[in-house]
Amino acid sequence: MAKETIGYKPTKVDLTGQVAVVTGASRGIGRAIALHLASCGAAVGCVATNKEKLEAGTVAEIRAAGGTSEAFAGDLSKVEEVNRIMGEVEQAFGKIHILVNNAGITRDDIGFAMEDDKWHDVIQTNLNGVFYCCRAAARIMMRQRYGRIVNIASVSGIMGNFGQANYSAAKAGVIALTRVFAKELAGRNVTSNAVAPGFIETDMTAVLKDDIKEKAMMLIPLKRFGKPEEIADAVAWVASPGSSYLNGQVIAVDGGMSY
Ligand code: NAP
Repeated sequence: MAKETIGYKPTKVDLTGQVAVVTGASRGIGRAIALHLASCGAAVGCVATNKEKLEAGTVAEIRAAGGTSEAFAGDLSKVEEVNRIMGEVEQAFGKIHILVNNAGITRDDIGFAMEDDKWHDVIQTNLNGVFYCCRAAARIMMRQRYGRIVNIASVSGIMGNFGQANYSAAKAGVIALTRVFAKELAGRNVTSNAVAPGFIETDMTAVLKDDIKEKAMMLIPLKRFGKPEEIADAVAWVASPGSSYLNGQVIAVDGGMSY
C-alpha cells in the first residue's frame, strides 16, 4: 500500500458458508476481490483463461491462507464456455451466492479510426460476456432465492473516456444490464449492483503512456490512483448479506473522479 493509504485495513464482512464466483481472478482487481472474499469466509471459484496459472497463483494464495478455492478456466466471451464454467462451479460447490463479473479487456483507439476487431472484441468480452455470466448465474440464484450479482463497470462507462469508444460503450451497457437484472431478479431475493472503479494500478493501466496518466491524475480529487484492494473492499460489502436493500446501484470507487 502507498503511504497515502497508511492506516488502511480491509473492511471485513461475514461470508461464511457462501460460494462466490470471481471472473478475471488471475490478476489485478479480480485477484484482490477473490482474496478478500475468501478472507471473509467465502469459498471462491476463480475464473480466468488459464487454469494452471490460476492454480499456481490466486487459488494457491487463498488455500495457503486457509481458505477454499477452485480454478475454472475458459474464454468468457464465448457463451458455451460460460455455461460450462457455471455448471462446473455449481457441481463443485453446490451453489452460487455471489457472482462478481470482473473480467475485462481494453483495445483503445480513437473512435473515428477504430477497426471493427477492436470494437467487437471489447463488446464481446466486456458486455456480452457479462450478460452470459449474469444469465447463467441468475438461473441458479433464482432457484436458491438468494444471490448477489456485482458487476465491475468503470468510470469510463459513466463519463465516456477519450480513446475508449468500445470500452465506454461496453461499460455503459453493463450499467444498464445491472439495472435490468436488479428489476427482474428482485422478486427472488437476488440483487444486482455495479462497482465502477476509477484509475486503478493494474496491468490494464500499467501500459498507458505517462501523458495519459498525468491527464487522468488531474481529474482525481484524491490525487492518487487507486489500489485493487480498495475496489475489493467495496465489492465485499455489496456482495454481503448486509447490502440487502441495495439494488440497481452503481458505486463509483474512483477518488472522486466521476463528479
Ligand atoms: P487486468 O489486470 O488486465 O486483468 C484482467 C482479468 O480479466 C484477467 O484475470 C484476465 O484473465 C481476465 N480476462 C480477460 N478477458 C477474459 C476472457 N475472455 N475470459 C476469461 N478471463 C478474461 O484488469 P484489471 O485492471 O484488474 O481490471 C479488472 C476489471 O476492472 C475490468 O473489467 C476492467 O474493465 C475494470 N476496471 C479497471 C480499471 C483500472 O483502472 N484498472 C478501471 C475501471 C474498471 P487472464 O489473466 O487469464 O488473461
